[in-house]
Amino acid sequence: MFIKNYPLSKVTSLGVGGPADLFIKPASAEEVAKTQRYAAEHNLPLTVIGYGTNLLIRDGGVRGIVMQIAEPLACARVEGTVLSAQAGCLMGSLSKLALRHGLSGLEFAVGIPGGVGGAAFMNAGAYGGEIGPLIKSVQFVQNGKIGSWCRDEFYYSYRSSRLQEEKDKAVVTAVELELTPGKHSDIGQKMHHFQSQRRSKQPLEYPSAGSTFKRPPGRYVGPLIEQAGLKGLRIGGAEVSTKHAGFIIKTGEAKARDFLDLIAKIQETILAEFEVSLEPEIRIFGED
Ligand SMILES: Cc1cc2nc3c(=O)[nH]c(=O)nc-3n(C[C@H](O)[C@H](O)[C@H](O)COP(=O)(O)OP(=O)(O)OC[C@H]3O[C@@H](n4cnc5c(N)ncnc54)[C@H](O)[C@@H]3O)c2cc1C
Repeated sequence: MFIKNYPLSKVTSLGVGGPADLFIKPASAEEVAKTQRYAAEHNLPLTVIGYGTNLLIRDGGVRGIVMQIAEPLACARVEGTVLSAQAGCLMGSLSKLALRHGLSGLEFAVGIPGGVGGAAFMNAGAYGGEIGPLIKSVQFVQNGKIGSWCRDEFYYSYRSSRLQEEKDKAVVTAVELELTPGKHSDIGQKMHHFQSQRRSKQPLEYPSAGSTFKRPPGRYVGPLIEQAGLKGLRIGGAEVSTKHAGFIIKTGEAKARDFLDLIAKIQETILAEFEVSLEPEIRIFGED
């Protein structure tokens, strides 16, 4: 069942941007397939989102259908060393499930917000870990049909995966992750350490979409922005975090336009000062 004119600011961590013409949250792979077929038959663009923690939605919103893969598709189970999860499972919950089963591999993910479908798409990672190498299989729906890739068919690289390269959008509905047995106390300690690192270094007290830019080869984004004197720079309600310059945070009322202008300003300055071209890590959807 579609909801008309749904405000996407409600389903993104930044909380800005306009509405989706039509919004739907499928509860099964079959419903995902049906939605894809409906979009194709009615010639409507179809945009897929997870928990919106890596998204900037433009102020004019998104035309056509926005399909959110979230809670209705969020069952997970562990058999031996394999963790099977539907795409709407939160990464934080999955790392805690792995901990309960004494399985190592997902420690890096304990503080990454968003779902495992979005994480597979982005090849999300932190503290030297990433989801790509853990993937045993990916179930997806493409062109209205259910399919799957095994480990060797799912290629990935830094913040990128096969899912970003498919010409016809493949919507992840479930993944299997291969983990390794570990000592409960070691896994727990590692998670605790990563969480405290995050809390001390990242501006978690403000809305953001995580790191704004991908790391350019051999450089770190935060220090580059800081050296360029842009830390704390503000346009409207968007601000380069004073705690971690790699994050742009929302302070008070903000428009997507504020974020887009600030991103452009940072890119121009870093290119001019260091001849480094910064590519957004966040995904930008919709119309101005
Ligand atoms: C405070 C904060 C900290 C963060 N820290 C990290 C970090 O340490 N490491 C990191 O990698 N990221 C980090 N992020 C970014 C973000 O959390 C991850 O990229 C996350 O994996 C995105 O998941 P999501 O469900 O929110 O996806 P969304 O943001 O909704 O979508 C991201 C992309 O994935 C696609 N997508 C989503 N679900 C599916 C699906 N089921 N099938 C196909 N495509 C899909 C969307 O089309 C979109 O292009 C952080 C974000 C915040 C706000």
